[in-house]
Amino acid sequence: MTPQRAASVSAAQGWDGAANYQLFAAGSNPTFGVHEQTFGPLSLETIGADFISVLEQSGLTGRGGAAFASWRKLAATDQGRGGALLGAKPVVIANGAEGEPLSFKDKTLLTHAPHLVIDGLLIAGRAVSASLLYIYTTPSAMRSVQAAVAGRRDARKIKVTEAPESFISGEASAVVNSIANGIALPLDNRRRLSESGVKGRPTLVLNVETLAHVALIARHGVGWFRSVGSERDPGTRLISVSGHCAEQVLEVEGDASLASILGRAGVDRSDVRAVLVGGYHGQWVRPLDYTLSPSGPAGQVIRPGAGVLHVLSTGDCGLEATARMLSYLAGESAKQCGPCMFGLPAMARVLNAIAYGAPDPSLVGELQRLGNLVGGRGACHHPDGALRLVASALETFSDDVKAHLSGSCTRTLRRTA
Ligand code: SF4
Repeated sequence: MTPQRAASVSAAQGWDGAANYQLFAAGSNPTFGVHEQTFGPLSLETIGADFISVLEQSGLTGRGGAAFASWRKLAATDQGRGGALLGAKPVVIANGAEGEPLSFKDKTLLTHAPHLVIDGLLIAGRAVSASLLYIYTTPSAMRSVQAAVAGRRDARKIKVTEAPESFISGEASAVVNSIANGIALPLDNRRRLSESGVKGRPTLVLNVETLAHVALIARHGVGWFRSVGSERDPGTRLISVSGHCAEQVLEVEGDASLASILGRAGVDRSDVRAVLVGGYHGQWVRPLDYTLSPSGPAGQVIRPGAGVLHVLSTGDCGLEATARMLSYLAGESAKQCGPCMFGLPAMARVLNAIAYGAPDPSLVGELQRLGNLVGGRGACHHPDGALRLVASALETFSDDVKAHLSGSCTRTLRRTA
């Protein structure tokens, strides 16, 4: 996937600020020399624990899905050091697993700008005094990551490990389990990873895009980072755009409007049925008058989640699309928790029945009953993410639900209208 370099859109205007947006400014997979020429040298020796307060002022949030304040994760790991066995030094992991089927921004970043991720990992490592650093990457980006690490003296202590291609392999405790034990399944955590993760050490897991932003904040400062985006959502984020348009990665500013991003992606909005925001654990939305932000009033903002926009055309059925996704999610359960292991497949069967025309009005109630049994009952958030997807589909495609249960389909009606 080739990223779009002129890739910024403003909430206020159709503004194209390629000169100000940097993640891919060094071109595709640059040498370390070109990377340093483009972004400037990195002064690692100036980084210490006080960098955590710089991150706090920047307002950077995680770009992997949950959108936690990044500084809090570093601070918790720094504090975890005090309580760790024999004061064991922390572990920092750059998480590039990207198991979300509709996301490809992290693979794109690792393939085209691996040095920025390495910079961010080295900075985070220094800020929490880590002694072990890992890049956990999908197989497709492995070669460029290994070459970038091998080409840098300052990256010698970074270990590169392969992330299995499964939906759940990027969940933070699954990342730790994979690196520590070779098993990419979530841990039933009794202790926080910031206290005890890899080898019992305080462990910090940060998404690779988050680390790329860390690398630029360390160079250019808080004011630079906050000069785009909004007060509640500063900086830029990468978005994987797919579906009824050309697949592409866009770098957009925080709080950008959904409509403006779709315009930048070349989407004909008159042919959009709905947009899935955030991926398989995200939400369908329609109409498109939202902005993308991890915080803000419901009804005005939609959470970017894993940084995914998937466009459904007016010729597609949202229920069929959701049923396929839920079947996939049911198959990706790590089968460690009963409600997830049995509940998601049962929900997928019911949703498929609705989507493919079983005229039974009781099916929606059954779906909701199963959802109540599954919600909040997993060791990880996998079932809750699946429930969010289904709930948004029932709301966004409520006219399709009624039509399907009465033996027709609004898609057919639209086509023949
Ligand atoms: S909730 Fe599902 S995916 Fe998560 S740990 Fe339990 S079985 Fe595995």
